[in-house]
Amino acid sequence: MSASEPIQMVDLKTQYQAIQSEVEAAIREVLDSNQYINGSAVKSFSNHLATYLKAKYVIPCGNGTDALQIALMALDLKPGDEVITAPFTFIATAEVISLLGLKPVFADVDPDYFNLDPKDVARKITSRTKVIMPVHLYGQTAPMEPLLALAKQHGLVVVEDNAQAIGADFTYRDGRTAKAGMIGDIGCTSFYPSKNLGAYGDAGAIFTQDEVIGEMINTIANHGSKVRYFHDVVGVNSRLDSIQAAILDIKLKHLDDYIARRQAAAAAYDRGLAGIPQVKVPARAPWSTHVFHQYTLKVTEKRDALKEALQAAGIPSMIYYPVPLHLQPAYASYGHKKGQFPVSEQLAEEVISLPMHTELTPGQTDHICATIRQFYNV
Ligand SMILES: *Cc1c(COP(=O)(O)O)cnc(C)c1O
Repeated sequence: MSASEPIQMVDLKTQYQAIQSEVEAAIREVLDSNQYINGSAVKSFSNHLATYLKAKYVIPCGNGTDALQIALMALDLKPGDEVITAPFTFIATAEVISLLGLKPVFADVDPDYFNLDPKDVARKITSRTKVIMPVHLYGQTAPMEPLLALAKQHGLVVVEDNAQAIGADFTYRDGRTAKAGMIGDIGCTSFYPSKNLGAYGDAGAIFTQDEVIGEMINTIANHGSKVRYFHDVVGVNSRLDSIQAAILDIKLKHLDDYIARRQAAAAAYDRGLAGIPQVKVPARAPWSTHVFHQYTLKVTEKRDALKEALQAAGIPSMIYYPVPLHLQPAYASYGHKKGQFPVSEQLAEEVISLPMHTELTPGQTDHICATIRQFYNV
């Protein structure tokens, strides 16, 4: 890419060009096979992802939102059962809880790592609580050991929303490690094109080590059916199509390299933004590697003016997320009030995500950092 090309928030074009011939050959193979649904490409990708994650069961599905919904459907929950999750996330996490007639109960997040605060989770547990659903926001895992301890103590299931952290490595205090999504009982992910492992359309997957849950998820995703035209439970139709699977199978081979490129861009940002009093670069949790789905700053002064100054310099940026879920009109019926989740509310005012993808050049990160330094006169 030449220096004069515009900086993208996510550059899918250059990444595609690097694997274009491989991808096009794989798509042609699916077309020639005529197995557009449940073809061998789906099996191949599921097996390779299972190896990568060290998962016994990988169930591919239509998208990340479906993955979360199917995971909850597999748990034999009753209307009104409570699922604890963060209000500082994408709507999908809470949406599926509500759609199934369950009650989303929010717990606030940690101001440094942006993920569920186990102390607040503990305060929100009631006799109706059945599930804790941590979100591994921006690319590093929630503090899973205290969350798992709470789950064990209260007999709860842990479902990880791993849409943003595929490939991140979690380290337990005893030194064992696990891939993000393989720490709780069920992991869910999205292969939306801009995610770290992105398809060229919609796609998602669910993973687990538990045989009973794995079989149930497989059945639910397939119209509640194990044998065609025989239906054990009410399920859904959520499938990964063969063309997307073939593309993902190729991109999975590059995932660790893609992560390394994101980490290199993050390190360049860290260096370029050091010592600006109004800017806090992303804190790294001691228990997780960071795969930088987003590189998100906390800025304590003039966040929105900074966004405009970046825009004027040809630099895109995004606010993930401007309104915490408890203050969204969609959740007005729960009667949440401003001030109820102070950390999430403050983060919504302070965060700004910079361009982050596998194709960022040192020239681009330098230009972005220089623009921010100039804005704050540092
Ligand atoms: C992207 C995302 C989802 C939803 O994935 P889709 O494939 O778009 O349905 C869910 N949760 C989080 C945190 C996400 O970032």
